[in-house]
Amino acid sequence: MKRYETLPPLPERINKLDQLAVDLWWSWNAEGREVFRQLDYRLWRETAHNPVRMLWIIPREKLEAAAKDPVFVAKYDRALASLDDARSAHNTWWANRYPNLHGRSIAYFSAEFALHQSLPIYAGGLGVLAGDHCKEASDLGVPLIAVGFMYPQGYFHQHVSAEGWQEESYERLNWADAAIEKATNLDGSPLVTAVPIGDRTVLVQVWRVRAGRVKLFLLDTDLEENAPWDRELSARLYGGDRETRIQQEIILGIGGVRALKALGSDPGVFHLNEGHAGFVVLQRIRDLTEQGASFEDALEQIRRSTIFTTHTPVPAGHDAFPFWMVEKHLAGAWGSLGDHRDRFLALGSYDNGSGPQFNMTALALRSAGAVNAVSELHGHVTRSMWAPMWPGRPEDEMPVKHVTNGVHVPTWIAADLAALFAKYLGPDWLERQDDPALWDGVFSIPDEELWDVRNSLRHYLFAFVRERARQRWAVERVGTPRVVAAGTLLDPNALTIGFARRFTGYKRPELIFHDAERLARILSSPERPVQIVFAGKSHPADETGKHHLQRVYRRALDPMFGGRIAFIDDYDLHVAHFLVQGCDVWLNNPRKPLEASGTSGMKAAINGTPHLSIGDGWWAEGYNSNNGWLIDGGLGYDNPDAVDAADAAALYTLLEEQIVPTYYDRDAHNIPRRWLSVVKESIRTVAPRFSARRMVKEYVERMYAPALEQRMEVSR
Ligand SMILES: *Cc1c(COP(=O)(O)O)cnc(C)c1O
Repeated sequence: MKRYETLPPLPERINKLDQLAVDLWWSWNAEGREVFRQLDYRLWRETAHNPVRMLWIIPREKLEAAAKDPVFVAKYDRALASLDDARSAHNTWWANRYPNLHGRSIAYFSAEFALHQSLPIYAGGLGVLAGDHCKEASDLGVPLIAVGFMYPQGYFHQHVSAEGWQEESYERLNWADAAIEKATNLDGSPLVTAVPIGDRTVLVQVWRVRAGRVKLFLLDTDLEENAPWDRELSARLYGGDRETRIQQEIILGIGGVRALKALGSDPGVFHLNEGHAGFVVLQRIRDLTEQGASFEDALEQIRRSTIFTTHTPVPAGHDAFPFWMVEKHLAGAWGSLGDHRDRFLALGSYDNGSGPQFNMTALALRSAGAVNAVSELHGHVTRSMWAPMWPGRPEDEMPVKHVTNGVHVPTWIAADLAALFAKYLGPDWLERQDDPALWDGVFSIPDEELWDVRNSLRHYLFAFVRERARQRWAVERVGTPRVVAAGTLLDPNALTIGFARRFTGYKRPELIFHDAERLARILSSPERPVQIVFAGKSHPADETGKHHLQRVYRRALDPMFGGRIAFIDDYDLHVAHFLVQGCDVWLNNPRKPLEASGTSGMKAAINGTPHLSIGDGWWAEGYNSNNGWLIDGGLGYDNPDAVDAADAAALYTLLEEQIVPTYYDRDAHNIPRRWLSVVKESIRTVAPRFSARRMVKEYVERMYAPALEQRMEVSR
């Protein structure tokens, strides 16, 4: 039943290469990556690092040669042993800390997961967070089981027309090339679960993705037995209208709980990453009432074992549906809960100003025992936004805390930098990555060596940018101006600012163009040139976002900026790696307080690309005056036009007076000593505190473990 079963046969000596390829563990472990890099470096690059695809197309002679190459075989053996260890070691952080919780598990639900670019089931930050959470859980030995969606057409690919307009194309995933397998029932047959939607039953195929110790189960409605419109339900991430959306969410919540049961899994805690999976609650209450519990008792049990993370400080960003729509699509889902239908619907009722609706966040807030926002500031915003849920309660007594996001260090750190850390912080630096004291060692890295690495990373970025531009020009035949806009005129030695994120109004992608003349003067200084690399997609339905993108693209085409502005299309995990590692400064200028956390700045900062940002999201806690720069126009939240002007002016002043002079202040050996002290302080302060390790440990210690322990008390 495994998709990769039909891969061409492998030579005996290396016949577990396919097992290594289908476990995405290789993607964050140098030992695993090395195997495939060495196997065929050209194919490794051509497939954008997709070992499953590589195994399909690699010439047989190459495999035979590898099987006889002692260096390769040694690497292969080491990687397999490490993978085995990652999947089943007993001496993990979790096992040592919580021996009493042996055998327990945590289900983690999310509508998107960004584990690797070869599995395009993510749109942006939410997915990256979920992917990083899973990888870190694997590293720490946390018994997490993840549940999400298999979108056969994934999220869209972005093309930008000559006029700068975003065009979307959906590509059907080639299943054979993806690191996924069919999940199976306990008896080994393929796992298909049934989900009632309206008055019909939709069948859901369950797929399995391995990420070391963590397994991710993905739900897919594209089965022949389903009606054509039902087959389309899971086709695309965030495609379709409200009715598609609610049906997707029913499949995720109800189908996900049913799939776990069929897998023989009985999680002690359910973690809902954003409100999309709120219907988990419905299925679980129903299961309990079916066993005889009263509605109150069932809800109480659910509360003790549900954790909810909210990510959206924008009221309109929370999924809400008219009641008739909910009733229509849930018609077949009630079972023994039928008598309590109104009480369940009341759990989601919330009036956002336009009359009561069924709000997925309200449902999750009312049925989770522990709720968290994703940064300290976002905690305040969330409590005030949802204050009507707890009338009369002072803010500090509202049941919403925060766990600030973090990024998975092994995934995001540049290999060249990891080698420096191993040399100067110690070979066990990854094991100790969340210990702030370890990172004081960054100051023992010689400036020369660090600067060498920073230069290499910038050069890798430009080699990547040029190669993409070459492809667009030679294969897709785009015109010459677009070759310029794609970054071919960029100077690999100039100060490079990166801005890569979703193109949408509140992120203010055009802020830096507020005074175009002033910006042009900054960019085109002959002695101290500056350049900006943009990347990012707009949601297909976000016209405003697309207009921002178009105007930025036109700036890249405008000779006024001398080819020092580029737009890299089709932003994804792969592009993100090059950008966060290769730029010199990471720019983030959202309209405060609309950035819940932001994570790309963390990825940049740990790579020595300091953050230049509004004091929003994580930067409100992360900035310490020496580890990057704070853009502060000094105005509050009112009057957006005045705030934009003030923030833009503050941004220019920082560039003119601090960032550019510091970067180009070189000693006799052309080393920017002052700059490197900011780089070091950025790495030192951000790596331990904003790592996924610190984050996952916090989830475990403050939420997962207490819930699991409490449940054991109750069942005793
Ligand atoms: C990290 C990342 C994001 C999220 O970045 P923000 O700073 O939160 O906007 C989005 N997309 C990709 C591809 C990423 O790697």
